[in-house]
Amino acid sequence: MPDAKGRAAGLDLMRQHALIAGEPVTSETRIAVDDPATGQIIGHVPDLGAADTERAIQAAHDAFPAWSRSDPHKRAAFLRDWARLIDDNAEGLGALMALENGKPFEEARGEVAYANSFIKWFAGEAERLIGETQDSPLGHVILTFREAVGPCAFITPWNFPAAMLTRKLGPALAAGCTAVVKPASQTPFTAIALAELAYQAGLPKGVLSVVTGDAATIGGVLTASPLIRKLSFTGSTPVGRLLAEQCAPTLKRVSMELGGAAPLIVFADADLDLAVAETIRGKFRNSGQTCVCPNRVYVERSVADAYARKLAEAVAQIPVGGAFEPGVKVGPLIEDKAVRKVQDHLALTRAAGGEVLTGGEPHALGGRFFQPTVTLGGDDALFRREETFGPLIPVFAFDSEDEVLDKANDSEFGLASYVFTRDLDRAMHIGRRIEAGMCGVNTGIISTAVAPFGGVKQSGYGREGSIHGIDEYVDIKQVTLALR
Ligand code: NAP
Repeated sequence: MPDAKGRAAGLDLMRQHALIAGEPVTSETRIAVDDPATGQIIGHVPDLGAADTERAIQAAHDAFPAWSRSDPHKRAAFLRDWARLIDDNAEGLGALMALENGKPFEEARGEVAYANSFIKWFAGEAERLIGETQDSPLGHVILTFREAVGPCAFITPWNFPAAMLTRKLGPALAAGCTAVVKPASQTPFTAIALAELAYQAGLPKGVLSVVTGDAATIGGVLTASPLIRKLSFTGSTPVGRLLAEQCAPTLKRVSMELGGAAPLIVFADADLDLAVAETIRGKFRNSGQTCVCPNRVYVERSVADAYARKLAEAVAQIPVGGAFEPGVKVGPLIEDKAVRKVQDHLALTRAAGGEVLTGGEPHALGGRFFQPTVTLGGDDALFRREETFGPLIPVFAFDSEDEVLDKANDSEFGLASYVFTRDLDRAMHIGRRIEAGMCGVNTGIISTAVAPFGGVKQSGYGREGSIHGIDEYVDIKQVTLALR
């Protein structure tokens, strides 16, 4: 889609208000949202505070009894109507996301489809909220029901403005929960547009609100409220820890989808061309700003040089540019601070003896653009501790399976991991022993609506998507019947 047309399609769906119980809300002070490619302001959202957040919570509380007791088949029908509207508006939603996030339009369009796959999947799950019957040793019959947890709070990040929201809203609405959403301040428009479409699809007023404003204030009110029964958060580990603490006094159920530092391991018997292609697929989505991006690549020493040089050759060809330029695969980073972090990680790698094979500099486009970069050697310790969240792939050589497993696991994070080998036994061994919630074997892509997504250790707890995703939004109720 050309620039002018893309901008127009995105701006067409942009609403510069928050939504409380389906009604537009504005405020005197506002938050500016910019286009990361140019730094230019594209619009504003209200800077709402405690009172408006309380109103949204009350609306979710008031709407909960009717929504949670509604026929789950009707909720499924609503989700399908919503999904149809999202499909109908996919170009505009993709363009809007590209504008506020900076990711290439084609990729943003792909995220809309991915985001919508959660709504479609959980429409089916609404129809399968199945309970059990069981004979009790006391001579009774026990019935179990899966009941909606209650009003939920969702706090989401900027890197996948649509998918990180629908992964929560799909199962929550299917289960009969109501929700108050606080999207990231850098990318609020996609969430507001999705909520508008939900209301167009017939969602009853009050079931969903989107509040924008100061994160600590809104987060403080959402987590302190006894009316909110569940918090699901996707974002950084430090903020996740803080929110979990804030949820403790009211004993909310909590799901945490946090940061990662994913290892990608390539054994000498792997198909190197495949490993290179999949490393690139996994790494450069969203310009390297994804929680499951390979953060550190370990390659068996005998092929490390060959792999790294092939990778560098391919990475040097990746087209970088604005979201609406044809063929672009890597866009700008979200903010100036993100560029500095890539530069810091590069400087430390160079200082530790790492060699830059390609890239290594701010991109000629200026601003928040950085060259896709590959390094070889240096110290991997930094990359075990911290996610770069940018277009840098550090490659390190290893000598033995035990050594590389130790390195892979020597991290406080445990979200995604990847292994490339033709040896199935080894793949299973690594897959089972690696301390991560997810492991891709001979693939750099592990996320779909049907796969359980989530981490272990400091990457959080809870699972999104798959047959398990809805469990985060239901309580098991038992009714015991004493029968003759
Ligand atoms: P972040 O700074 O933690 O922000 C995420 C969300 O939390 C935003 O909506 C932000 O609001 C809000 N927030 C910040 N401080 C808060 C506070 N004190 N109280 C309540 N809310 C607060 O993370 P980010 O930089 O946007 O996202 C990148 C991180 O997310 C990375 O670590 C990445 O790995 C992780 N991530 C994890 C997954 C997963 O599924 N595991 C998926 C995607 C991303 P404002 O925008 O208004 O500050």
